[in-house]
Amino acid sequence: MPLVSTRQLLDEAAKGGYGVGAFNVNDMEQIQAIMEAAKETNSPVIIQASRGARAFAQDNYLFHLILAANELYPEIPIAMHLDHGNSFETCKSAIELGYSSVMMDGSLKADGKTPATFEENVAVTKQVVDFAHARGVAVEGEIGVLGGIEDGHGAGGSGLDHVTDPDQAVEFAELTGVDSLAIAIGTSHGAYKFTKKPDGSVLKMDLLIAIHKRLPKTHLVMHGSSSVPKDLQDIINQYGGKLKETWGVPVEEIQLGIRNGVRKVNVDTDNRLAITGAIRKVLWETPEKFDPRDYMKPARAAMQKVVAQRMTQFGQAGHAGDYKAISIADMAKGYKDGSLSTKPLVAAR
Ligand SMILES: [Zn+2]
Repeated sequence: MPLVSTRQLLDEAAKGGYGVGAFNVNDMEQIQAIMEAAKETNSPVIIQASRGARAFAQDNYLFHLILAANELYPEIPIAMHLDHGNSFETCKSAIELGYSSVMMDGSLKADGKTPATFEENVAVTKQVVDFAHARGVAVEGEIGVLGGIEDGHGAGGSGLDHVTDPDQAVEFAELTGVDSLAIAIGTSHGAYKFTKKPDGSVLKMDLLIAIHKRLPKTHLVMHGSSSVPKDLQDIINQYGGKLKETWGVPVEEIQLGIRNGVRKVNVDTDNRLAITGAIRKVLWETPEKFDPRDYMKPARAAMQKVVAQRMTQFGQAGHAGDYKAISIADMAKGYKDGSLSTKPLVAAR
């Protein structure tokens, strides 16, 4: 099966009424963990790489690992997605390498830190959409600004500083023609999202529902949506770690989102916690060990467990065989002839 566009993958998720986890990768073991979880749960897959991941692993290593996954699991639809592209050039380089999907995060300027104006965001996102769609590649945009910083990307501060305005979301979708839209509803990147279990005062699910009502056909994306489970925090701290108490986005809130138009859910921190906890445990309990496989195997297994759990919770489990991949070249034809039009169907106010 060729690499699948996130557009096709999320269209199918909308038809089936489920969400799809998008899991970040930096190395072979993380890709293996995701693919084994997908096989275990019969799930379609979105694998995503940030600029930080591309710099860490180098493009060629990372991309060829994804192609290896595609060869080894031909029955599973796999989308390869660029997470938080900061400029047209970053998105272009991913598309030229063969990514089937890119995010243009124009909510920040190209420095990845300073909030951009609405006009700047529209202009750069539209430029990416035109380039990507001509090549059959799907585009995720972002309106509103997420909190926190991860991989050096982010405005910092609270997730409530720049939540998405529903009117702007509609205008943005119309002006840019994005295939999916990341919105800011109070979540942050990284492990420290909330200082207590989040309620409606900090996690704006009402706002998400309002945006979905206005843009019922647009695939919404939740970023910063790790649940940061206490048991994973505890393992790290039990074996010499020093994490401060923190809360993520509860799975039931994500499931509420999925019932209201969320089709892509970004998860990174939970996997980082699982990996680090497993490695700490081995090194703490058996300090005489020095073969990296002794701790990488349990680390990979711990990540697989988290990913499989999320795939089941988001509802994508069981859906890997629902459809055949449309090639990226055929997706390009679809954008050209209008059958993949991204004109959002805006509901009446
Ligand atoms: Zn993000």
